[in-house]
Amino acid sequence: MPTSVLDRFLRYVRLDTRADERSQTVPSTPGQLTLLALLVDQLKALGITDAAMDERGYVMATVPATPGRAAVPAIGFLAHVDTSPEMAGANVVPIVHEGYDGRDLVLPDDPTAVLRAADNPALAACLGDDIVTASGSTLLGADDKAGVAAIMAAAEYLLRHPEIAHGPIRIGFTPDEEIGRGADHFDVAAFGAVCAYTLDGGGPGELEYESFSADAITVTFIGFNTHPGYAKGRMVNAIKIAADFITSLPKDALSPERTDGYDGYVHPYQMDAGVDRTSVRILLRDFVTSGLTEKRALIERLAHEAVAREPRASVSFALEESYRNMREVLDQTPDVIDRARRAIRRIGIEPIEKPIRGGTDGSRLSFMGLPTPNLFTGEHNFHSRLEWTSRRELELAVAAIVELCCVWEEDARSS
Ligand SMILES: [Zn+2]
Repeated sequence: MPTSVLDRFLRYVRLDTRADERSQTVPSTPGQLTLLALLVDQLKALGITDAAMDERGYVMATVPATPGRAAVPAIGFLAHVDTSPEMAGANVVPIVHEGYDGRDLVLPDDPTAVLRAADNPALAACLGDDIVTASGSTLLGADDKAGVAAIMAAAEYLLRHPEIAHGPIRIGFTPDEEIGRGADHFDVAAFGAVCAYTLDGGGPGELEYESFSADAITVTFIGFNTHPGYAKGRMVNAIKIAADFITSLPKDALSPERTDGYDGYVHPYQMDAGVDRTSVRILLRDFVTSGLTEKRALIERLAHEAVAREPRASVSFALEESYRNMREVLDQTPDVIDRARRAIRRIGIEPIEKPIRGGTDGSRLSFMGLPTPNLFTGEHNFHSRLEWTSRRELELAVAAIVELCCVWEEDARSS
């Protein structure tokens, strides 16, 4: 008997795989290795002989091409096993609310944890479906164990249905996506696929291939400190200059709290303040990479203006590149998106294409030579006590993966 995608999901979420950004190990927490090792065992039990985990926990495996189809381009499916460091992820108790009828779902551990239909419009599409939540004190871990379960179930389905022709299908499970390190040690050459799809998206039909381009800039103001009792005419307070600079940032636009859609922003999010030296960490975000240059120029101009009002102070800047809009790569490989669109339509859903106001492992992987858009897998309210998914959405994600393998095979036949 095959293992249902829901049963797989319910098993994976019970393992604590919360990532830890303070850790320097790879993976950042040992619980991730427990799940990664379990996945290798399960892949082997399915008959996938090359399933293996490397010394950093990255799991790779192949569903071999069906007879005569080895020349079809190899494509990959990826999911991350870690969960958000921001929420408790130990002792997750998943609850299956069968036959959802539109009621509010009260989670047993905490009477204030209520999944309300009014706050969750996506629930309206789930009448009659089985909803899965946690018990109210932890996240659920649908982000991204829904993706892990969908890929595993799709692999099992393909292996049990040799009549479905497909090329080589590569599978990858990765650690530490939630702390931005998931792509750090991913061996694109060893993976050996022409493209990959992360299964790490929201409701049915979501297809994401645009992310922010992102940099961080540290602005450091240098003042002059001396004993405040004898400071007249001598002290230059870097904290006050930094405050003056922050006050001068645009208030009605270019900020995360005032933008959505395709608008970028500048976002001061951390300060290290002292009289002698104060530094401000600022995130720069734009869907167009050249827009980052303009935002950086704005920050530098405003900082210089603040210093010009206190000429004894000085300022310096340090820029770090974070990630780039994956669309810059994916525009060169339109088939990768187009085939995903067609696969989603073939399971009866209209694709929903929206920009991601953030980055994914795919943003990094695309620039490492592996074009990697993101597909839906039924994640809702991720990083929250009210996280949920549903049986039907998990099953649709499996169907989309299988269909996508077929589309690639059919296109190789006709070309
Ligand atoms: Zn995720």
